[in-house]
Amino acid sequence: MDSISQQKEKREILKRYKALLWTWSENKGVKKNNQVRKAFIMACQAHDTMRRRTGEPYIYHPLEVARIVAGEIGLGETAIISALLHDVVEDNPDYTIEIIRTNFGDKVAYIVDGLTKIKDGYERLESNAQVESIKKMLFTLSDDVRVILIKLADRLHNMRTLDSMPPSKQQNIAAETLYLYSPLAHRLGLYVIKSELEDLAMKYNEPEIYRTISAKLKETEIERSIFVRDLILPIKQAMKSKGIQCEIDTRDKSVYSIYKKMQSKEIPFEEVYDLFAVRIIIDGPVDDEKMICWQAYTIITEQYNPLQSRLRDWIVTPKANGYESLHTTIMSPMGRWVEIQIRTRRMHEIAERGYAAHWKYKQQVDRDKIQEGGLDEWLGSLRAVLNSKDSSSLNVLDDIKLTLFSDEVFVWTPRGHLKSLPIGSTALDFAYLVHTELGTHCIGVKLNYNLVPLNHKLRSGDQVEIIASKKSLPKEEWLEYVITPRAKMSIIESLKEQRKVQAAEGRLKLEEFFNANQINFSKGNINRCSEYFKFRSPVDLFYKISINDITSDHIKEFGTFYASENMHSKSNKENELRSDSKSHPSPKKSKLVVDYNLDDLDFSVANCCHPLPGDDIIAFSPEGTHYIVHRTNCNEALGLMTRFSKQVIHAKWENKPKNTFLGGIKISGFDRKNMISDIIRVISDDMRFNIRSFHIDTTGELYEAYISLFVHNTLDIKDTVDKLTHIDGISSASRMIQFTKT
Ligand code: MN
Repeated sequence: MDSISQQKEKREILKRYKALLWTWSENKGVKKNNQVRKAFIMACQAHDTMRRRTGEPYIYHPLEVARIVAGEIGLGETAIISALLHDVVEDNPDYTIEIIRTNFGDKVAYIVDGLTKIKDGYERLESNAQVESIKKMLFTLSDDVRVILIKLADRLHNMRTLDSMPPSKQQNIAAETLYLYSPLAHRLGLYVIKSELEDLAMKYNEPEIYRTISAKLKETEIERSIFVRDLILPIKQAMKSKGIQCEIDTRDKSVYSIYKKMQSKEIPFEEVYDLFAVRIIIDGPVDDEKMICWQAYTIITEQYNPLQSRLRDWIVTPKANGYESLHTTIMSPMGRWVEIQIRTRRMHEIAERGYAAHWKYKQQVDRDKIQEGGLDEWLGSLRAVLNSKDSSSLNVLDDIKLTLFSDEVFVWTPRGHLKSLPIGSTALDFAYLVHTELGTHCIGVKLNYNLVPLNHKLRSGDQVEIIASKKSLPKEEWLEYVITPRAKMSIIESLKEQRKVQAAEGRLKLEEFFNANQINFSKGNINRCSEYFKFRSPVDLFYKISINDITSDHIKEFGTFYASENMHSKSNKENELRSDSKSHPSPKKSKLVVDYNLDDLDFSVANCCHPLPGDDIIAFSPEGTHYIVHRTNCNEALGLMTRFSKQVIHAKWENKPKNTFLGGIKISGFDRKNMISDIIRVISDDMRFNIRSFHIDTTGELYEAYISLFVHNTLDIKDTVDKLTHIDGISSASRMIQFTKT
């Protein structure tokens, strides 16, 4: 590189550093800071010769991450310094955690160390290491949530610059982002970052659909802004006349959430009515904020009719991640439902920037007793799951996903405290949430003063009282009663404890039985006996003996087998050895994008998402032989790509597929004479596809039809849908994303 472009680059680096300081000072009113400057210089030196894949100097990356941390998340000095240094130790062997500690103190060293230990999924080798690392990352949450916030900023910047990655990696990174990082951002209340992560992931996972939806959003932009302007004008005037200071803005729904809605409701883009929401952000004293919000609600509903069933009060009971707001849906003069979100400036900041803002206000306005139990409790339950050494690592991931994704129910304790649990939680889950001891010794539950079974599912608003007795202990079937990881883990632990006690008794009994049958009470023989009865471990055998499931008669039976087996043991052992060396076939390596003629491969399409030629797909091969093809947007597929990235290949359809695939179409409209025969005529005569099933529901004059048919690819479905929409009496036709086998 010549010296002129070198100079240019240096100027650009300084410019970006100044932008960082500016972002920070804008938020916190800080002008100069020697420690931040020192961190910037150290990062520059450490990454001196490194470049990003884009060819840009590497230092751009930590600078951008620090800027996201300061601006979009709203964190302060320690986090900014840590963000600047987050890749230093990993990338340059001359820099150690100790050097960072000497220069910046324990806190920064701790955070940078945490960040260095988290490997990104796509860099990991096996699924187990991958899960371990995710576990590690989540575990640091409980110590210093800044580690995870900076990690999210790191991922956000990497997603923003994902273009420079090879396509095969892009999909893996995008899948992992959807599977783990966006739910995390959601749980921490970082809505803006969550939406951006989802949109970016979708851009790479389903480029075609992403482009279509964003183009449609763009097309309708002007129309929307005129609509909003007319809608909010009377609200603005009314607020002003009542002396309420507020800012009104609109936020478009993200491409990803529009797509989710289209899928879940099986509707085309045009029928998604809530493409945007209007936000009323009120400036006023924190002491009166609840009252002001309801006052604003009254003013709005004097102008427009609200849909009562859609009133959501997150002010009296905030969401577990801290979100507070009042949502109402009103009918606009143009006949469209519009969602309006009412909140104060403080609530707005928490909604946008989550944890950090939450924290800030908590310190400032403690007298106002702002609810913040949710986040702490969530961190607590995560800690419980991660602390338990026994759980298999993949289950842990699923449990965490359950905690991250599920919606919540709110119930009351007898003393009038509100607790939130994932939807589907039972009375027993509640007992464990209140206290592990209360769960362990639970013998009964009173729900709204009536006795109910322990596995009774809770509903929001229930008042729950737990009855406990010191003598009572968890039972095996309790595992079926609970859904929260915290409860499950505690039950497993107690069962193990109980088993240990019982196993000791069982072991003594077994020794007696062995002696009676002249079997040597050796480790080998105990193992053989436990294998004979097909137990996973001798502990299970001891346990079953202690509860008399295995009796002295059974052991006699084993004694006979033992005697005969002893004679053949030599030849058997050789056989075992031989079969052992064969039992681990090496899994096929994952490749970059491969052009497969799926005809030649042993493959089947997944039942969950029914991919068609033309869809973006992956192929998953659990054993390295048979492939199961999923759509890349399928939930199942996202999980597979994250957890078993080595067994997943990014497949492509061959240009001229020979197979015919099962596709589905949903039609609705007004019933008339010959409707059904007209539909069938189009599909089988005009398009020449075989119909596999035809199901029709009618309510009055309206009907809905579900058709499954054999086609070659997505284009066939699209053409058929186009043709069908031209039939008189069909008001909408679209591809069915999910359909049960008929
Ligand atoms: Mn990084």
